[in-house]
Amino acid sequence: MSAHQKLYEGKAKILYTTDDPEIVLTHFKDDATAFNAQKRGQISGKGEINCAIATKLFQLLEAEGIGTHFIDQPAPNQMLVKRVRILPLEVVVRNIAAGSLCQQTGLPVGKVLPKPLVEFYFKNDALGDPLLTRDRLLLLELATPEQLSQLNSQALRINEILIAFFNKCGITLVDFKLEFGVTSTQQLLLADEISPDSCRLWNQAETDPDKRVMDKDRFRRDLGNVEDAYQQVLERVLGTLK
Ligand code: C5P
Repeated sequence: MSAHQKLYEGKAKILYTTDDPEIVLTHFKDDATAFNAQKRGQISGKGEINCAIATKLFQLLEAEGIGTHFIDQPAPNQMLVKRVRILPLEVVVRNIAAGSLCQQTGLPVGKVLPKPLVEFYFKNDALGDPLLTRDRLLLLELATPEQLSQLNSQALRINEILIAFFNKCGITLVDFKLEFGVTSTQQLLLADEISPDSCRLWNQAETDPDKRVMDKDRFRRDLGNVEDAYQQVLERVLGTLK
């Protein structure tokens, strides 16, 4: 399938049209950004690594009955996906306190939460992606009440599947961000990517709070060895059966 016009260029991916109006080609870039793009850099090989990790995780989730936009991985850094209208929401699931949860609540980093926390953020760079309440989300009509309840239950189910899988990889799934889209037939599908860019992943073999980090926090916090950490996640993900 040949690529056509550029549809959209985001911070980490470029989307192209294909011969089929319902299918989009996604090109994963090596570019890395953090803190609402105030920090920019490159993680060499990231495009291919994230594309491979996201492919494997989408296939795993599909096998467990979760509808995703994934169709195929035609090249190491390319993914064919179903065309969707992305909901302007970042759905974050947290199992352990880290990042903005600690900054905004004072909870200590590493505190295991009594149950997974599902949060919704407004995907809006100009506003700095603010945390939403359910009522604000509905007020802004960012999703319907039915979609909101589906998003909540899908996020929790995805969390269960990913926790179990990453545990087999010797990795603790601390938290992660999901994006969902709606097809032309109003089907809600998991979209975007799941990768070390969008998850906090801690190596279970390390107790040191810096050494254990296998995700974009290495880039955010200048911890070094970013490429090695991403590569290690890929190797474990590919080496682990369902
Ligand atoms: O920064 P915060 O603690 O809210 O992030 C929670 C999770 O969501 C982290 O795994 C982070 O990598 C992910 N995230 C993301 N994209 C954003 C914001 C958060 O992938 N724009």
